[in-house]
Formats: sequence, C-alpha cells, structure tokens
Amino acid sequence: MIKIAEFQSIGVVRSKFKERADPAKMRKYESIIIIDPKYEEGLYRIEKNEYIQVIFNFHLSEGYNLKGPVWDGQIKGVFASRSPKRPSSIGVTTVRLIERKDRQLKVEGLDALDGTPVLDIKPYVPSLDEAEQIRVWQEYKKANPRSEINGLIKSGNLKTLLLKAGDIHGHFCPGLSFGVIAGAYSLRELGIHSEGMEKLLAIVETNSCFSDGIQFVTGCTFGNNGLIYRDFGKTAVTVTRRDGKGLRISLKPDAYALWDNKYPESKELFQKVVVERKGNDEDMRKLAGLFRRVSFEVIELDFESLFNVKKVQVEIPDYAPIYDSIICSKCGESIMAARIVEKDGEKFCIPCSESEYFELDGSGMKYVKMNKWGVRI
Ligand SMILES: [Zn+2]
Ligand SMILES: [Zn+2]
Repeated sequence: MIKIAEFQSIGVVRSKFKERADPAKMRKYESIIIIDPKYEEGLYRIEKNEYIQVIFNFHLSEGYNLKGPVWDGQIKGVFASRSPKRPSSIGVTTVRLIERKDRQLKVEGLDALDGTPVLDIKPYVPSLDEAEQIRVWQEYKKANPRSEINGLIKSGNLKTLLLKAGDIHGHFCPGLSFGVIAGAYSLRELGIHSEGMEKLLAIVETNSCFSDGIQFVTGCTFGNNGLIYRDFGKTAVTVTRRDGKGLRISLKPDAYALWDNKYPESKELFQKVVVERKGNDEDMRKLAGLFRRVSFEVIELDFESLFNVKKVQVEIPDYAPIYDSIICSKCGESIMAARIVEKDGEKFCIPCSESEYFELDGSGMKYVKMNKWGVRI
C-alpha cells in the first residue's frame, strides 16, 4: 500500500436524512454544509459557482464488499458501482449551490446523510467537466437507452416521468398522468423492465392520452411490437411478461369526475375546444393550462385511489414474425411478404390492388374499403 496524505474534514453536512435513504430521494432536498471556521477563508468567491462538487466521507458505512448486488439487482464490483461501502469510503456528488451565508452553504442535490464529514469542495466548471461528461453520458445512453427511465420508475419519481412523457405526447393532461402512474406501478410490481424486444407486453384498451403514458413508461410501443391494442374504449391496460403472468389495471370510473367537480370550467372548455372544435386561441391556451395543472395534481395521487388492479394470466401472441420484402409490381415500393395481394400472377401492395384493410385512427380500429380509383368508400 502506498502511503498517502491524511485527510481531515473541512465541514459537516446538515440534512433531514439521519439514516440511510434512497439517494435519488435525498437529491431532491436541500442540505446545508457548515464549513469549519478554520477553513472559512477558503470559501472566498465560491458563490460565483452555480454548481460545486462535494467530496465527503461515508462515515456510517462499515466495511465493504468488493462485489455484490446494486440497486437494480445486478452484481457489480465496488469500483463499478456508487455503493457507499467502499475501501476508502469516499463519495463525490455534484450539487447546486443555492446560497452562501458566511460559512454555510445551502445546496440542492446532495445525497449525504446528516453529520457527514466533508473532505473537500471544488467548483464544477462546465467548460472543463461538461464536454467530457456529455460524451460519457452519450456512450452510456447508447448502451442503456432506458436506464434513466428505469431509475425514475424504481425511485417512484413520477413527476419527472410525466415531464418526459410530454416529449412524445405534446401536452400534459390527466390521461397522460394516469398512463404514467399505471405504467410505473405495473413495472415495479412485475419487477421487469423493457428492452423493446417483446419480453414485456402492454395490452391497452384505448387509443387515448392514457396509452401514450403507458408506451413511454413501459417501453412497450407501437413500433417495437410490445404494444397490443384492443379497441374496447376503456382506460385500462394489461402489462404482462411473456409467461402471460401480468396485471390488469383499470381506471376507477369516478377518477375523471374528481377534477370535473374541482374545476367546473374544465368541462365546459373541453366541450367547446375538443368536442365541438369551436374554441379560439384563448380558449385553447386556457384549457392547456388547466390540463397542465390537473395533470401535475393527478401525478401526486396514490395509485390505489385511482385504479383497480387484478393479477391475470393472459394468452400472449408469438413474437412478431419477420417477413421477406417483396416489390409491388405497380408502385415499385417494398412490402412485407405477408401484406402482398396476388392478382393474375403479379404481386401488388394493398393500395395498388384496391383491397380492404384495417386502419387505426382517432375513432378506433376501422375496416376500410377502397373503390377502383383507390378512394376510401
Ligand atoms: Zn393528452
Ligand atoms: Zn403498390
């Protein structure tokens, strides 16, 4: 062992967390770092930094395991994890510096317990640290596309999940929140996450906002064949593993009424803007604002108050088959072999052959017929 310099604490952490807690939860709260008077001068101009790196000692952690399970059950070596049980028991976290008051630093994002000795503080300098961090993050993301979502599900951070679900849904509404809550609950209960390879399936019973929340959170989507659509018009989903053991989650009938009563103007606005399509820009802006407010209220509610849930055994389809591609004799476009229509020994695509087909649109699943000019009848 090489002899190294001795460390001393330069201060101490004051946090509402007195004993071991979920680091993701801890990072949501503010803490105070009280610097030893002896080192106060070393804080000169620290308030110019929005972010600082805090190096601290895991003072309550005893001993270490060189290898063991981490938060998601995977086995990792201690140097391949952020476990507090380490040979040198040192933690490093980048936090937001809210304010400095003399020798007290109020910070947000620190995952250190009350009483933690602080060993050192350094400014986080984006120009030095960020470019490399972004590159590292991008590489990590390539190998683990859904790790951030899985982390949010595990820590129960539904608000951030909802914010992210807005990326695909385009607006915030109670339906989206319901989908986020149901999706996160099902994955936590089933103890599985999606890799987009049909190991997990979501059977949705509506093509409304709810289903976007489900797709985003479960990772079972239209494009990766993890999503099955049943045109029942119910705010309900069955999430299941491939063994058919799953959960059916359905919205309680009075869930929407709660907000209709609380925000009576929403019903009228919804009727005008969405049902009758007669709203002006001001009405639309108002409704969007109301939806946004309600959706972030909904996301704070208990799962049990909103949903009924039942363990189910379901029959699931085979993995999506892989078909050859065939070229249409008329338009020259490539088609899945299962969708060709043969006429007089030639192979056509559905539109070129003027055949019937199924279409999913805003009104649900429809059977569509075309006339000989390719126009829907
Ligand atoms: Zn919506
Ligand atoms: Zn064609």
